Amino acid sequence: MLNVETLTKWMTNFENRIADQKDHLTELDRVIGDSDHGNNMERGVNAIKAAFEKTPPTDDLAQDFKTIAMAMLSKVGGASGPLYGTAFLEMAKLAKTDTDFGDLVEAAAKGIAKRGQAKPGDKTMLDVWAPAADLIKQNKLTADAIDKLVEATKPMTAKRGRASYLGEKSVGHVDPGAASTGELLKAYLDAKA
Ligand code: ADP
Ligand code: MG
Ligand code: MG
Repeated sequence: MLNVETLTKWMTNFENRIADQKDHLTELDRVIGDSDHGNNMERGVNAIKAAFEKTPPTDDLAQDFKTIAMAMLSKVGGASGPLYGTAFLEMAKLAKTDTDFGDLVEAAAKGIAKRGQAKPGDKTMLDVWAPAADLIKQNKLTADAIDKLVEATKPMTAKRGRASYLGEKSVGHVDPGAASTGELLKAYLDAKA
């Protein structure tokens, strides 16, 4: 079960990882998008940090996830803001009754699929969120497994979002949102360790 200590560490780790990977995320988005994913995610994690400074996380995980979701939704433009916002809102809803991490990630994945009209294999962040939920439930989520999910977006043809405008030309490149989701999941692994 997720608790407030792990959640707080998770978000701090996420902020640090995004700061570290910002240029890489921008570069991935330069190749198959519009070069703003690093900036968008940086704005997102800074907004989460500011929101937690104003409303510190408590044992009420539903409220904590809502704070995170609102920060992403209000401060991040582009496709990723509403999608991460939706993911955290779904976790907020579920956390009222269930704080199992696998269940939370599964609920987030379902929310992203619905909001983004994305299916597995469409070369989006969903291609990390959805299989990660399964791996967590099997106790098999490792940094290595996360890297494999991110890399697995390379041969896919983008069917959603900006990269889909490139069609077949999107093949051979990692999806930026998949990469940032990988950072989010690794931030969790480090928090739990
Ligand atoms: P934008 O594309 O608006 O510039 P970002 O660059 O911040 O926004 O985010 C792009 C990422 O958002 C993509 O790499 C992909 O993972 C994700 N994405 C875009 N559209 C969708 C969608 N319809 N469903 C799921 N994920 C999506
Ligand atoms: Mg972009
Ligand atoms: Mg953009």
